[in-house]
Amino acid sequence: MSINRARLLVMNAALGPLDYRVPEGMSVEYGSVVVAPLGPRQIMGIVWEEAKLPAHSVPDEKLRPLLGLVDVPPIRAELRRLIEWTADYYIAPMAAVARMVISSGGALRGPATMTEYRLSGGMPERMTPQREAALEALEGEQATIRELAGIAGVSEGVLRGLVNQGVLEPVEVDVDRPYPRAAPGHAVVELSEDQQAVAARLVEAVQAEEFAPFLLDGVTGSGKTETYFEAVAQALRQDRQVLVLLPEIALTEAFLSRFEDRFGTAPIVWHSSLKSTERRRAWRAIASGEAQVVVGARSALFLPYANLGLIVVDEAHEISFKQEDGVRYNARDVAVMRSHFERIPVVLASATPALESLHMADSGTYEKLVLPSRYGGATLPTIKLVNLTEEQPGRGAWIAAPLRAALEDRLEKGEQSLLFLNRRGYAPLTLCRNCGFRFQCPNCSAWLVEHRLSRRLSCHHCGHETKPPERCPECGEEECLVACGPGVERIADEVAEILPDARVALVTSDTINSPEKAAEFVAQAEAKAIDVIVGTQLVTKGFHFPELTLVGVIDADLGLEGGDLRAAERTYQQVAQVAGRAGRGSKPGEVLIQTRHPDAPVIAALEAGDRDAFYEAETESRRHAGAPPFGRWAAIIVSSEDDSEAREAANRIGTTRPFLDDVMILGPAPAPLALLRNRYRYRLLLNARRTANLQAVIRDWLRQVDHPPGVRVGVDIDPYSFV
Ligand code: ADP
Ligand code: ZN
Repeated sequence: MSINRARLLVMNAALGPLDYRVPEGMSVEYGSVVVAPLGPRQIMGIVWEEAKLPAHSVPDEKLRPLLGLVDVPPIRAELRRLIEWTADYYIAPMAAVARMVISSGGALRGPATMTEYRLSGGMPERMTPQREAALEALEGEQATIRELAGIAGVSEGVLRGLVNQGVLEPVEVDVDRPYPRAAPGHAVVELSEDQQAVAARLVEAVQAEEFAPFLLDGVTGSGKTETYFEAVAQALRQDRQVLVLLPEIALTEAFLSRFEDRFGTAPIVWHSSLKSTERRRAWRAIASGEAQVVVGARSALFLPYANLGLIVVDEAHEISFKQEDGVRYNARDVAVMRSHFERIPVVLASATPALESLHMADSGTYEKLVLPSRYGGATLPTIKLVNLTEEQPGRGAWIAAPLRAALEDRLEKGEQSLLFLNRRGYAPLTLCRNCGFRFQCPNCSAWLVEHRLSRRLSCHHCGHETKPPERCPECGEEECLVACGPGVERIADEVAEILPDARVALVTSDTINSPEKAAEFVAQAEAKAIDVIVGTQLVTKGFHFPELTLVGVIDADLGLEGGDLRAAERTYQQVAQVAGRAGRGSKPGEVLIQTRHPDAPVIAALEAGDRDAFYEAETESRRHAGAPPFGRWAAIIVSSEDDSEAREAANRIGTTRPFLDDVMILGPAPAPLALLRNRYRYRLLLNARRTANLQAVIRDWLRQVDHPPGVRVGVDIDPYSFV
């Protein structure tokens, strides 16, 4: 880099790299975060290596000077290489990836102190319903006015009124105050022999400070977490930072308390709904190296760790690691790449690893570490099928006789049961009994799902909501709506009918929508204040309830519907994970799986508890289809608010397709979800042999085609969703 020129990767995906003059007195290096002029506005950018970011050269005298240097450590070369790799692999703009690193303008530029507000204990001069609601909702809260307004569900104006009257008092907060220190030796756990062997290998890898990818393959309850905590402890001893990625933010609460038991203090949490002050504090601590252990959702992966020493991806098979909008990346795979660039170990932990991960282990790319049995001699549950073609529940019922009997039995014994159905709401489809009208989302090609608890019909794709109408909008008949099919709310109702005395907890993202609610649920379940848990995939993982001895899977066939190439694998994983919730204590567990297809290979493998048989069959079918890991898939999604515009754009792409021996191209065809958020969608699917350079093919191809401004063309590399 010449002393007085700097090339910037600017935080705007529509712009290419831009060159600036470095004014006298300012000292920048590669990775420096700077503010630059852009026309009359300002823009943030990262100083980048010229050779890695080609641009038209602008003569020195035409360069505008940088405006300022942001007071944060420069983005390290390791992370700059990761940004480049991610953009290249997923065919995304570098700026879009870099924005995930910067992730919060406030983190970089905001003041170091800020004003938050809390209740002072005083009362308003005049009580209004809104003020009353605010007073109740804000008990124990402290945040900015805007955040408090969100919490209380009132306008900021209402709260400003309360500030003026002294009911809310200001508190000056030092945003960047330090975090408590985690202690590697706080409460050391004695490991079993198997666990010790695994832990020793991980500790050794942390000490070696070299790239080392591990697949930690252990049955549910085998102590994977306990074991990788030893690696975390080692990293702490070496003053290196640790990142633990969890698939679901609802899971973090249980994780945090376990972590605190082991290390004496909770780790730093990172997710998208942090308050701006928490975000800034965490970001800065991560960038300075002060943050020791960060637990987060996938977005934590791109943070600018100063000194990363270990990455753990827990429940690594989970599809929520795949981001489906913006930069469509898979955090599990990018975590391995980050470890490669940082030259550190990475642990993918799972009881039901993705076929791709197992393949990497079997081919020697990843080192496989196995925990074959549950800790403390707890046995794996027995698994039985309930054949729904023989054992039909009555009309409007979904719990067949054997499962019903088992539920009654557990309630009598005072043990807990869990019913699993991966469908939120009361019923997936509502129609008019009189004319057959079906309630559909106006913005998406999808049915509206009835939610009785919140008295809404809602679209699970775009969030559109309406009140269920009194009369059919088509034929005008009154009280004619019928619910079709079950959701978890309906199953909970059915349980209440079968077992009127049972205490039933409904666990879905609608009811467990905050870490506090999750903690409350866990506390109740542990205190045995719940007899039956009815839940969606939220209950399939992480939870450890010793008194839970029965798991019922309401509809194991549900996941097998639809054209998703991983449908069988996902069904296997979900059912195996939820089955893993049973019998974790001293009492043995039982799992009843309701199905119409007892002979389907995945269901038969579940019944036999034969994981290897399932993976073998699945491997063969993938090999046959040229699917991952044997071949690669990519999708091109073309969308527009105008149907014919979208179709024409998709056709233009279709007619310019390359003809190659090692890449098969299907489509364009209307996407299964042909309308999503008011955009019409068409897709092309690519299936490539491993020899093909799929990204280069797509990039060269799409570069040749121009579209009107209303058309969006998205690329999904290694797609998970085929809608
Ligand atoms: P996994 O992550 O494989 O599902 P966990 O680490 O959650 O397994 O362990 C399951 C349960 O067994 C947890 O309650 C954990 O605290 C306990 N456990 C596992 N290993 C040990 C150990 N060595 N000593 C004491 N408790 C353990
Ligand atoms: Zn919708």
